[in-house]
Amino acid sequence: MPNKTFVALDKNPRIRIAVTKGHFTSKRIHFNRYLDIGELKFNSRIAFDVAREIAVPYINTTYVDAIVCMDRMEIVGAFLAQELTGTGMNVMNSEREIQILTPIMTTDNKWIFPDNRRDLISNKKILILLGSATDVRALAALCECVKYYGGLIIGISSIFSSLPCGKCGGINSLFTADDIEGFVSYNADQCAICKEGVPLDAFIYSEGYTLL
Ligand SMILES: [Zn+2]
Repeated sequence: MPNKTFVALDKNPRIRIAVTKGHFTSKRIHFNRYLDIGELKFNSRIAFDVAREIAVPYINTTYVDAIVCMDRMEIVGAFLAQELTGTGMNVMNSEREIQILTPIMTTDNKWIFPDNRRDLISNKKILILLGSATDVRALAALCECVKYYGGLIIGISSIFSSLPCGKCGGINSLFTADDIEGFVSYNADQCAICKEGVPLDAFIYSEGYTLL
């Protein structure tokens, strides 16, 4: 595949997405760019920076009881909880406790939480933390799951989002599709790249991709 280019956050150029052109698929969506956010999730120093940026819309305004981490965002989630509960003027959650939660996918593709953790969600203020928000159906299913357990969704944040607006309200995203030159995504059954007969390059998942 061709070389990567990088798209960096203006406020902190260390936070940058590596962009590769090609034809990629996740479970339901096809893309003409692979956005590598692995460094932002798994490099502890950069993940810390990412968490500080993600904290901005909430730190002085919003109570948070739990962060529901998807797409292997637990490292960022832990740093985010630390940031949100730090000492400082007007830090809403100062010296409070924030739980880091991740739902489990059942064999019939539904998100659940373990019954012994229900108390951490029921009537609690939940911040949903995504790596990449690109599939509106997947996000809606996740929001439904949190609501089913009685959670109150107070915000959705992601590193990247191509969704203009989630069903549960807007997404606070560090990067959007507008930041990635030429970025296009399609539902798998309506992919314009497939219709041109171009084969898929790779399957995308939370940890990276596998060439096909
Ligand atoms: Zn395609």
